[in-house]
Order: sequence, then C-alpha cells, then structure tokens
Amino acid sequence: MDFSNRGHMEGARSRAEAPEFSRDVLDGLRQPLESGEVVIARAGVTARFPARFTLIMAANPCPCASARTAGAGCDCTPLARRRYLARLSGPLLDRVDAKIEFLPVRRAELLSDRTLTEPSAVVADRVASARRRAAARLAGTPWRLNAEIPGSELRRRFAPAKGALRPIERAMDLGQISARGADRVIRLSWTLADLAGSAVPGIAEVGYALGLWMGTPQ
Ligand SMILES: [Zn+2]
Repeated sequence: MDFSNRGHMEGARSRAEAPEFSRDVLDGLRQPLESGEVVIARAGVTARFPARFTLIMAANPCPCASARTAGAGCDCTPLARRRYLARLSGPLLDRVDAKIEFLPVRRAELLSDRTLTEPSAVVADRVASARRRAAARLAGTPWRLNAEIPGSELRRRFAPAKGALRPIERAMDLGQISARGADRVIRLSWTLADLAGSAVPGIAEVGYALGLWMGTPQ
C-alpha cells in the first residue's frame, strides 16, 4: 500500500464507511489480507512487514445512509447506489470471510433484544475455547489459527467431513465463488465447528460458512 499519498488517508479519516475510502487504499488491503504481510518493493530492495489483522468494514447501502431501499429520505439514484458499493471490489470482497446485512431495528426489537443479549464475557469464553480447540488440532504444525492453514493443507489434512463440501462445489459450478473464496469458506467452517464444539465441520457448518461468505446467511 502506498502511504505516501496522504490525501487518501486524510480524506478517509473523516468518514468511517468503507466505500468512502479511495479504491487504491481498499485494494491495497488485498495483499496483506492474503499473505499476512505488507511487501514494499523500491529500486531493487524489498521490505516485508508483518501485517496479520482482523479487518472489519462497515458500509451503508447507499451514499446518503438514510434508507435500506430507495424511498423515504433517500434521493440517491440506482446508479449512485451501485457506484457507491462497487468501490468495494470483487477481489477485496473475495477476501472478506463474513458479510452480514443489518436490517433497520425497530424500537420494540431493540428493547426486547436487551434481555436476550449474551454478556460479552460469555461470548469471550466461547471464542477462547474455540481458539484452544483449533490450537490443539494444529499442534505440531506451523499454524495456530484456522485462518493460517494454507489451501493445499485444507484439502490434504484438514478436509471437512465426507460430502460436506457439496454446497461449495455447487457454488463453484454456478460461478458464485472462486477457488480462493472456497478455501476461505472451509477455514470459516472449521471456526464454526470449533465454536460449536464439533470435531470436524459437517454440511451444516460448510453451508452456513458459505452463506456468511456470500452475504446470505441462512
Ligand atoms: Zn440514499
């Protein structure tokens, strides 16, 4: 990523929505997301910097941010809405494991949710035990997290249960997912299995992971 262009960064800092960042900045995330490193090559010298991070991006459905669908309070044209979201390129979204659409929340739902929400400590415990489970499985390998397992090893040593890859194969046949995306869905299904305490991802975990990756969780 070229940080020398300060205009991009300053322009982006004042607005938090991902599509407000310039395309260069957004696409500059692709390589570190894939390799866990920032590689800078200048005049025959290559420097590598560690860059493992969790990327969380937020985007409104349209530039005015006032409505989920064009209507009350939103004057954005369909073209403006398409252009806005198109700044998040396919190759970048390929590398985002889970895309979740939040619908507008009504007041009653907000109030009722409060009684159902788990405390953060409970969620943190669940995440910690999922990570322990992954670390135990990966003991003796160079990796500690599912996200670090190379694609070739996902097929050789860390394949999901027999038949569980059917949802991914179907999506690949339909051209909905790339080979890179398929690897990410398999890693995500391992994490779902670890969260659920399952020994190996089955078709339910793979199907749900695929839905998260495609932005249509069932
Ligand atoms: Zn709008």
